[in-house]
Amino acid sequence: MSECLFCGIATGEIDASVVADDDRWLAFRDINPQAPTHILVIPKRHVATVNDLTGDDETLVGELVRAAARIATDEGIAEDGYRLVLNTNAGAGQTVFHLHLHLLGGRPLSWPPG
Ligand code: 5GP
Ligand code: ZN
Repeated sequence: MSECLFCGIATGEIDASVVADDDRWLAFRDINPQAPTHILVIPKRHVATVNDLTGDDETLVGELVRAAARIATDEGIAEDGYRLVLNTNAGAGQTVFHLHLHLLGGRPLSWPPG
């Protein structure tokens, strides 16, 4: 089994509540949701952090964001509003070092974030 938790979820070795799937990305519900809708969108290819993206990944990042927007519509939160978050490294609270886009919504979200 892969040493990376989200690589394991991407390959199906580790169970997750999948909401959408594509050749290059996977979306699944966060195991510890911080809002009524809390979904993670990950690239299937291992990329540790935003700092590790290269020019070749620009299309991939766009696909992750567009996927999140479609899922927000499916979840019924697109009109009220939602937040997309990419925590990067420990100082920003990143705990899983496989890039993941948080989609949060379904309740009012205050600003600035903690
Ligand atoms: P980070 O803090 O790295 O930005 O976010 C990691 C997220 O992954 C957290 O919100 C955490 O709840 C979620 N998470 C950690 N382990 C698992 C797991 O095994 N399954 C799922 N679905 N989510 C997980
Ligand atoms: Zn990984």
